[in-house]
Amino acid sequence: AYIDRIKKLDKSINSFITLREREALEEAEIMDKNLEKGKNIGSLGGIPVAIKDNICTRGIKTTCGSKILEDFIPPYDATVVKKLKDAGAVIIGKTNMDEFAMGSSTENSAFKTTRNPWDLNRVPGGSSGGSAAALASGFAPLTIGSDTGGSIRQPAAFCSAVGLKPTYGLVSRYGLIAFASSLDQIGPFTKTVKDCALSLGAIQGNDPLDGTSIQVDPIKDYLTDLEKGIEGLKIGVPKEFFKEGLNKEIHDSIEESIKVLEKMGGVVEEFSMPITDSGLSAYYIISSAEASSNLARYDGIRYGYRTKEFEGFEELIINSRSEGFGKEVKRRIMLGTYVLSSGYYDAYYKKAMQFRKKIKNEFKEVFKSYDIILSPTSPVLPFNIGERTEDPLEMYLADIYTVNINIAGLPAISLPCGFSKDRLPIGLQLIGDHYTEKKLLQAAYSLE
Ligand code: GLN
Repeated sequence: AYIDRIKKLDKSINSFITLREREALEEAEIMDKNLEKGKNIGSLGGIPVAIKDNICTRGIKTTCGSKILEDFIPPYDATVVKKLKDAGAVIIGKTNMDEFAMGSSTENSAFKTTRNPWDLNRVPGGSSGGSAAALASGFAPLTIGSDTGGSIRQPAAFCSAVGLKPTYGLVSRYGLIAFASSLDQIGPFTKTVKDCALSLGAIQGNDPLDGTSIQVDPIKDYLTDLEKGIEGLKIGVPKEFFKEGLNKEIHDSIEESIKVLEKMGGVVEEFSMPITDSGLSAYYIISSAEASSNLARYDGIRYGYRTKEFEGFEELIINSRSEGFGKEVKRRIMLGTYVLSSGYYDAYYKKAMQFRKKIKNEFKEVFKSYDIILSPTSPVLPFNIGERTEDPLEMYLADIYTVNINIAGLPAISLPCGFSKDRLPIGLQLIGDHYTEKKLLQAAYSLE
């Protein structure tokens, strides 16, 4: 049924880069037979899952939305993919994304522009726009994305999905094509909080193949006590996230939800955290610096796209990279190289790292007073395709509520929070302290 639906409707959404029609059906059939035989088929047995195309899948093309990896077929599975398969999930296909996960609209894909299923003239958000749109279109009940500065939460908000960015380290990054390694984290898109809790349980956990992976055993089961409620839960609302620049309809919607939370016994209080204002600058320095280093491996020699025309070694590298990377990726590489270069390092990168330390500490303080922080996910509603492509700065500004969370390594979830008068989805963000996904999911569940 899912494959039929994709074949019928994805022509107008463009959420998939690769569809595994035959293979997925074969695997589902095997699963069916096992079920008939009374075998345990796993917590996600037979569930179709679509995976963002920057997560390596053995034998399945993994393009990262880039011409430079257009024909790349990984010889191994990312740990997350292995875990999904072990839990019985069926990989139905790979989803479109901004090239190397750089962007907020999926318009930076080298292959196609994904459309928002709620309004085909608008963007689905990004960079995991393909996964968000596929979920919202009913192409799979679970899709996987990655979030470096908001790339799960913002598209979840734009497409009216539940999107979780777990605590840094909770989900292995092994096999996730690196953008900014200290910020990247994999997480699920689902229709409901319950599905989110179930899938987090399946993909999380220590992985010796990822040096930044969680060392202790995480909570195994996020489903029990999901209905616990929020009686007495202390919820902090940062003033800085409600300033000018926030769309009025989003503002009103969030206010409504706050009232609901209060009615259910939550204790909501406003607080101030002025440091968050500098988050965007720090994010674009840190993420670009790491990207410039991570992307040095695409040289046209080892793997990936190679130019046809070159004379000598240097030109081979220059031409391969010039032809293989898109505009936004080049912009980030240049920005990153600049902030890391001697003479500018102290002024930019070092400052951003100092900021990082400071904001981490401030969040720690805030979580002494509150269980959870609540904010909008995005200051803007899903915008029109093409509306922001000419002005990168304007695109970056829309990440204002999500980037600080990655810098501090915190978990956060975006939940559907109603619609604008034009029927455009609105998202609400709940942020927790490190490894408090259980509490976060409980609070999210009560808001559903
Ligand atoms: N929009 C942000 C950026 O362009 C975040 C991307 C992401 O989380 N991968 O960097």
